[in-house]
Amino acid sequence: MNKSKEHNAKNQRIQVFARCRPLNSFEKRQGSPSIVEVIPEKKEIVLKDKNHNREFFFDKVFPIDSEQISVYKAVVAPLIKEVLNGYNCTVFAYGQTGTGKTYTMEGGERGDSKCSWEEDPSAGIIPRSLHQLFEELTKEENVEFTVRVSFLELYNEELFDLLSLTELSRLRLFEDSSKKGSVIIQGLEEVKVDSKDEVYSILEKGTSRRQTAATLLNAASSRSHTVFSVTVRVKENTIDGEELIKTGKLNLVDLAGSENVGRSGAVDKRAREAGNINQSLLTLGRVITALIEKQPHVPYRESKLTRLLQDSLGGHTKTSIIATISPALCNFDETLSTLDYATKAKSITIRPEVNQKMTKRALIREYADEIEKLRKDLVALRSKEGFFVDLENYNNMLADLTKKTEMITELTDTNSLLKEENMKVHLLLVYFFKKCMLTV
Ligand code: ADP
Ligand code: MN
Repeated sequence: MNKSKEHNAKNQRIQVFARCRPLNSFEKRQGSPSIVEVIPEKKEIVLKDKNHNREFFFDKVFPIDSEQISVYKAVVAPLIKEVLNGYNCTVFAYGQTGTGKTYTMEGGERGDSKCSWEEDPSAGIIPRSLHQLFEELTKEENVEFTVRVSFLELYNEELFDLLSLTELSRLRLFEDSSKKGSVIIQGLEEVKVDSKDEVYSILEKGTSRRQTAATLLNAASSRSHTVFSVTVRVKENTIDGEELIKTGKLNLVDLAGSENVGRSGAVDKRAREAGNINQSLLTLGRVITALIEKQPHVPYRESKLTRLLQDSLGGHTKTSIIATISPALCNFDETLSTLDYATKAKSITIRPEVNQKMTKRALIREYADEIEKLRKDLVALRSKEGFFVDLENYNNMLADLTKKTEMITELTDTNSLLKEENMKVHLLLVYFFKKCMLTV
């Protein structure tokens, strides 16, 4: 099944970046001074403490006035080429709530801005990477490829599909028996994207579903993680005329607010009291510690997030972290904790490996297996008490039902009118009949 084996594994470090957002209006109103200095030339962040300055060094640092495009170009643009070469790449956004994780990943709020997202300077990493992927894939003529995206949310150790066409449902995770350390997400919608123009509507759909989900679950977005994944498959012809499929994947992860776990991965006391332990964020911290300390056991299996992204941490995936921070004194503790965490993550080593190429026949077999799985799901759904209808069918049925209800009301009205008329006629007949009898 696997044709060429390219095991060009070399130890690499996780790439770690830090980005500082501008002071927000709340911090300004409070008169909280800025205590963060970003020095791009030295790849350094200085955090001013009472008596001394604390220094942190990363692969690159982004000051408050950095544009979205420059963050994209430095962090993600080089990964697009890797994805097209058949690697898996993952970018995490880590930081306190309100420091710009979603801004960095998805982009700024567009309001009713008229410009297209391609011209929107606040567009984030997700739309930009899809854009670049399509640019690269269509650069040469006759390249056969498919691009599929999925968007899921992890809240309170439950997985939700943000692109699913049906109602909000919890997804289940299974171990993939054919590939150690990887999982299968049952029922996850993988939407095929045919051009870069479709990207924005997909993102908007995901975001609005995220809000619906939050309302339904009474959830705070600061406590949920989202994972946006793009899978690219490109057909390649070998010299001996065989067709091979190259697969690469990009995961873009917007983590829950880091304030949800306290320093050094320990459960924050307040969080524990409120019963709000973010198992996934906590485990992510423990996994990082275990990897750095080269502990024999890495607790990947203790949370859904680390199970989902096991291969991105200490595995064969090229991994980057963007730590986002606030410049304000009032957030000192959280900023320090984020910078410590990011510094720790710098020493995780990974061994990126190219995904094995598949023959077309193997890919078709994989699709056939998937169709079979979906067919079984459908049968299972149909055989439960309820039954499954797709949205368009459902809406048609609903419209039909409304029309019929109206007709019934109308007919009932006519019917009672007729009954009344009938009664009158009947009474008249009785009257005449009696009269006739009398005259006879
Ligand atoms: P998080 O996802 O980390 O909770 P958000 O991305 O929602 O934070 O950002 C909080 C607010 O700050 C948003 O209104 C966002 O537009 C703004 N913001 C974040 N980062 C920046 C930045 N680098 N430049 C300008 N505004 C930003
Ligand atoms: Mn957010």
